[in-house]
Parts: sequence; structure tokens; C-alpha cells
Amino acid sequence: MSPFVSHMDLALDQARAAAARGEVPVGAVIVDPAGRVVAAAGNRTRELCDPTAHAEILALRTACAAARSERLPGHALYVTLEPCPMCAAAISAARIARLYYGAADPKSGGIGQGPRIFSHPQCHHIPEVYDGIAAQPSEALLRTFFERLR
Ligand SMILES: [Zn+2]
Repeated sequence: MSPFVSHMDLALDQARAAAARGEVPVGAVIVDPAGRVVAAAGNRTRELCDPTAHAEILALRTACAAARSERLPGHALYVTLEPCPMCAAAISAARIARLYYGAADPKSGGIGQGPRIFSHPQCHHIPEVYDGIAAQPSEALLRTFFERLR
């Protein structure tokens, strides 16, 4: 068992890079059971003209391709914002072991609020969830981004 190392700083870097591309600043990182970073991604919905191109989905695709598997047992996913219902369902389907997220998302979150995907009886795999990890810088990034749009 490797000692706990937070990869939220790297996820925040991805969120900042997303903001610089004009995307909603959310970043995600996936770490394999040996503690190696196997994917890092930020939102690319505008760039790819793809409403599913959330940071978590892009990171899952990269990590699954690296693992040559549609499942990622023992992997941890870090994301700067509470995943939406789509991403929460994908995280469950990928059998992610641990989910660390930053800011809560009252508008679109699907874990601590809204549909609460992991509490639903149809959810077959529930990761361990740790929320509020580096929530403040994650929130600040989003606030700055949306203030600029006004
Ligand atoms: Zn999402």
C-alpha cells in the first residue's frame, strides 16, 4: 500500500489549463494502484463539440486505454469539482476505487446532491468518496472564470 499522496494539485493545473482554453475550469487525474498518474485531463466540451467531454470522462478514456480494460479496479480519481450524474455513473462503471473531489457543485453535482448516483439502488459499484479536497482553490477558479463571462 503506497502512502497517500494528493494529486489534487495536478488536477488544479488541468483546471487552469482548461480555463486558458476557454473551457469551464475542471480538471481530473487518475492514479493507478502503484501510485502512478495514468491520466490527466481538463474539460474540452467546447473544443471537441462534445457535451460528454468532461474532465473525468476524458481521464477515464485515457486510463482505460492505458490499462487496456474498461474497468480500473484499485485506481483513484481526483477531480476539482463534484462530478455530474453522467461522470458519477461512468466512475461507477469503471470500478474506480476511490474518488477525491474538491468543490461541491449545487448546480450540477450528482453525488452529494441532485440524483446522488452512488446512493441509488441501481448503482452496482460505489467508490470510497472523499469530498472537500482543495475545495477553496477549485471554487476560486470557477468563480473567476464565470465572473469574466459576465
Ligand atoms: Zn461530468
